[in-house]
Amino acid sequence: MLFRFDARMDLKWQIFLCTAAGMALLTTVVMHLALIPWRRSAGCHWTERARLLWPARRVSVALVFACSLSGGFLGGVDRASWLVNSCSVAGLVCGFLAGTFFFTRAIEPRYRFLTWLGETFWMALVQFGIYGILLGLMWSMPNAVGPAEWLRFAVGLVGVLVIATGVWLPLLKLFPHKRKPEEERLEALVREVSVQTGLTPRWIFFSKSPKAFAGALVHLRSLVLTSRLMEILNDEELRAVLHHEVAHLREGFGVKLSRLLPIVGISALAFMNPVEHVYGLNGIVLLFLCPVLCARLARAIARRMEHRADDAAIQGADPVQYARALEKLYEANQMPAVMRSNSMVHPHLYDRMLAAGVTPDYARPERPGIMAWPGWVVLLMPVAMMVLMLTQIPTNAPRSSKARAEPRLENHR
Ligand SMILES: [Zn+2]
Repeated sequence: MLFRFDARMDLKWQIFLCTAAGMALLTTVVMHLALIPWRRSAGCHWTERARLLWPARRVSVALVFACSLSGGFLGGVDRASWLVNSCSVAGLVCGFLAGTFFFTRAIEPRYRFLTWLGETFWMALVQFGIYGILLGLMWSMPNAVGPAEWLRFAVGLVGVLVIATGVWLPLLKLFPHKRKPEEERLEALVREVSVQTGLTPRWIFFSKSPKAFAGALVHLRSLVLTSRLMEILNDEELRAVLHHEVAHLREGFGVKLSRLLPIVGISALAFMNPVEHVYGLNGIVLLFLCPVLCARLARAIARRMEHRADDAAIQGADPVQYARALEKLYEANQMPAVMRSNSMVHPHLYDRMLAAGVTPDYARPERPGIMAWPGWVVLLMPVAMMVLMLTQIPTNAPRSSKARAEPRLENHR
């Protein structure tokens, strides 16, 4: 038996199960409350429903942010052991992911448990692969950087870039899989578009998913499309979308490099220890500016590339079909026709349709809210934790040698 629910149950399992159950419950309740306005809008136009769903989606970001920050504060204050910390982090992550299942199912009932589990597994593998390497580099970086540290950083950065660019995806083709009829249809359409544009994608990745998605893997000169997208679009519309994606594959070397900027910027945080050691707080502030500036620059370039790809689709295919394809895609994914900010990578759907010469048969929707109220409540969690921490400091410090000699939690069995 792996574990037992009794007093002798291993401490690490107790911590894991408690944090996982607590986090799953918190996520489920918070996301359920956030969805109330969207639920009440049943029967409204899809743009209004998507507008109400957006602030609810943002709550999951607030949850992750609040929990990471609170966990960071607790780890700093409580001097808990490595075992306690790693078990609670694993519990929080699993609990959060489990909690998001109900939210995903509520907004897209096509999600079955196994479909959701498969997608979550791959998403988590990529995210934790990237952030795991970066955190490992950050924690292992000493105050003084020598050739060995630079080499370790270079190897780590290559690993992160390999994961982020998706150049490992062709390995998946090695696994045997049964070809589906949609794949034949997709390949025939890609062949047509390749003849028209003079560019043949190296690989076409077809994924079975309730999410309608088409994307270009620019570093691999490949395309990714999902079964749901193929389901909702007719051949003309799909051809127009392929023109957009192929235009991304035409991006120049500099643009392709710029797409790696956010990940390179965030990797600079690996040097937190030595920068703090040499330059103090000013150095840390400058170091944190690095990923922000890199992300902004990359976003500005990516936004220009989206306009360019839209133009290519409008010129290369039927603009009306392209506008309809975009509208179907946004409607299927319940994405707002007008987003909150003007600085998103993709222009607003409403403007993309107008640019294609199609005036939507509804008035320009209002912008969505920033975030549903449960998200703001969740953000109070780290604030409360910080206040608690600040009020505790005078009583805790200076720490006595006796307190330091106290047995660590992992020794209590
Ligand atoms: Zn695009």
